[in-house]
Amino acid sequence: MVTRFAPSPTGRLHLGHAYSAWLAWERAQEASGTFLLRFEDIDHTRVRERFYQEIEQDLHWLGIRWSGEPLRQLNRLAAYEKALQSLRDFGLVYPCFCTRKELAMSAPQQGDGAQLYAGTCRGLSASEREARVGQDCSWRLDMGQAAGHTGKLSFRDSRLGEVEVKPQILGDPVLARKDIATSYHLAVVVDDAAQKVTEIIRGEDLLESTHVHRVLQTLLGLPEPTYHHHRHVMDENGKRLAKRHDSLAIGELREQGWLPEKVIAWAKKNLSKSLR
Ligand code: GLU
Repeated sequence: MVTRFAPSPTGRLHLGHAYSAWLAWERAQEASGTFLLRFEDIDHTRVRERFYQEIEQDLHWLGIRWSGEPLRQLNRLAAYEKALQSLRDFGLVYPCFCTRKELAMSAPQQGDGAQLYAGTCRGLSASEREARVGQDCSWRLDMGQAAGHTGKLSFRDSRLGEVEVKPQILGDPVLARKDIATSYHLAVVVDDAAQKVTEIIRGEDLLESTHVHRVLQTLLGLPEPTYHHHRHVMDENGKRLAKRHDSLAIGELREQGWLPEKVIAWAKKNLSKSLR
């Protein structure tokens, strides 16, 4: 059994991260498995060197230990490029030239305000693409075609049971951004396979992403991990913790004299009641 915690070094850890890391670490202990640390640092403009160290210090203080050197995604761009190229070879990705403004204008709104890509660049002809070579573009997965290749898929979640994959849940996802030749979805599936992760433990905000990840794993011939999407830690007002909750940063609580046990107990007491 191999699991991991994959924070972004764009801020300090808060109680929500602590819970996620602790849950994965505890599960690895129970299973006599391996717990790994991975820095998801592709948001390079927001990454700060000091956050790598502070995250490690916070985890240490919580009593969490990981095996080996933490992986940094910024060192792995060649592996992501290789995966993207194989999807290109299959004809399953296309360049998207849309600007942020165009995306905002053309995207159909979903019930919760999230926006799906309208597919504007999916239908560009070869010559239209040719004419734009050299222009900044992102690369999107043609999910309709991809789903045709994979057939029906599902994933196993230890809390939610067997979940049928809805490939279109996030539309045509970006696999390589304009500013960096990868995206969360591509990097995470490539790295989970490279690190031989068998069990992915993370917050339920990433549940929709898992549908996309199963499609990518299948297309790229990568092993299928199992999942545990855990409930979120909420603040006193019933809102999910986010980076803005600086007062609930682990470092801050430590300075206030909290003990690691109290941090975890507080998080457990403040979990969301139901899924979403
Ligand atoms: N980097 C993500 C986060 O900080 C975690 C992604 C994952 O566990 O797959 O929320």
